[in-house]
Amino acid sequence: MQKSDILSIRKDFPILASKVYGKDLIYFDNAATTQKPVAVIEAISDSYKKINANVHRGVHRLSQLSTEGHEAGRERVRRFINAGKSSEIIFTRGTTESINLVASSFGEAFIAPGDNIVITAMEHHANIVPWQLLSMRKEIEIRVVPLTPSGGMDMEAFKGLLDGKTKLVSVAHVSNVLGTVNPVKEIIAEAHGRGIPVLVDGAQGVPHRKVDVLDLDADFYAFSAHKIYGPTGIGILYGKEKYLNAMPPYQGGGEMIGHVTFQKTTFNELPFKFEAGTPDYIGVIATIAALDYVDAVGLDNIRRHEEELLKYTTEKMNGIPGMKIFGSAPEKGGVISFVAEGTHPYDVGMLLDKQGVAVRTGHLCAQPLMDILGVPGVARVSFGMYNTLEECDAYIAALKKSVEMLRR
Ligand code: PMP
Repeated sequence: MQKSDILSIRKDFPILASKVYGKDLIYFDNAATTQKPVAVIEAISDSYKKINANVHRGVHRLSQLSTEGHEAGRERVRRFINAGKSSEIIFTRGTTESINLVASSFGEAFIAPGDNIVITAMEHHANIVPWQLLSMRKEIEIRVVPLTPSGGMDMEAFKGLLDGKTKLVSVAHVSNVLGTVNPVKEIIAEAHGRGIPVLVDGAQGVPHRKVDVLDLDADFYAFSAHKIYGPTGIGILYGKEKYLNAMPPYQGGGEMIGHVTFQKTTFNELPFKFEAGTPDYIGVIATIAALDYVDAVGLDNIRRHEEELLKYTTEKMNGIPGMKIFGSAPEKGGVISFVAEGTHPYDVGMLLDKQGVAVRTGHLCAQPLMDILGVPGVARVSFGMYNTLEECDAYIAALKKSVEMLRR
C-alpha cells in the first residue's frame, strides 16, 4: 500500500489520533484487538438510533429491520470466508466461545472415552482448555504436536499422532505468539485422508489473509470480529452442515427451540439451533461494516503491508544486542514476540507505554508454549493495516531507550 493510502486509512480510525502521556499513540497490540473505523462505530450508533428491536420474534417493522440486518450479517460473513451456506455460520461471543461450542457439542456427539484429539504446542488457551474440560467429562486424550526449531508445526510428528481413535484435529491458523502461519490446507488434507475432521482457530488468520473455507475444506473455522476491525462480543463459528446437524444444541433458551412443553423440547434448524437467547444483532450489523471496510482495502494489500512492517521491524530489532525474537517460520504473520536479555518483558512494556507505544506483555494466553520457550512471558508487537514504517522507527527508538534504561 502507498503511504497516502495508509494515511487516509488512519483518518478513518479516530482513536489513532490519541495522545498517550502526551505522546502520539502507536498502537501495536492488534493481535489482542484491533481499533475500529468510523464506519463500524457509526453502524453501532445508527443501529441503536434507527432500527433497534429484538430479532426474530417480532411482527413489527423495527424487529423486521433488525432481523434483516442480523441475517444480512450472516450472509456477509458467509461471503467473506466463502462458506457454502449462510446456515453454516453460527454467531457466538468470540473465538473462545466458538471453540467451546465445538468441544462441548461435537465432543458430546462424536468423541467417546478413550478417543483422542490432536492440537499443537503453539495453541492459545482457547484451544486447549475447552478440550481439557471435555477430557474431564469423558477421559479423552489430548495429543500435542511438537514444534520445529523455527516455531513451525512438526508435520511428520503430526502425521504420527493421528490414529484410528483421533476424532478431531484442532489447530491455530496463525500463532498469536510466534506468528507462524500453519499449512492448514495440508493439515486438513492429511487429517481428511484418515477420515478425521479439522477445526481451525482462525482468530489470527482471518484478519490478515484471505480465507476460503471451501478451498481449505475446513470442517470448522472459528474467529472473532473484534480482531478484524469489528465490534467486541461477536464470534463466528463456521461449521459444515453435516456436523452441525448431527451435533446437539450447546445452550438452551429462546430461538433455538422448535416446540417446548414441560416434558420435551424439539430444536430449531440451523443456524438457530446454536443461537440461544437474544443475539448481539447490533454487533452483527456492525460486523458487516468491518468486513466491507477490510474488503475495500483488500486483504492481499493488508497482508503485504503487514509483511513489510514485520520484515522491517524484525531486522531493526535484531540489531539490538541481547534481543531474542521467538518464531522465525518461513511463513510468518505480523507478530513479534521477544525478550531483551537483562530485562523483564513487563518492564519493557511499561516503559514503551510511557513513550506512547502499546504492546502486550505476559504469557499471551499460551502458558504451555511459554514453558516450551523457557520464559515466563514475552513482550509482543503486532501490526494492523493502519500501522506505518514511521511508527516502527519510533517504536525501535523507544525500545532501545527502554532496554538501555533497564540494563543500567
Ligand atoms: N485463539 C487465538 C490464536 C487468539 O489469538 C485469540 C485471542 N487472543 C483467541 C483464540 C481467543 O479469541 P477471543 O478472546 O476473541 O475469544
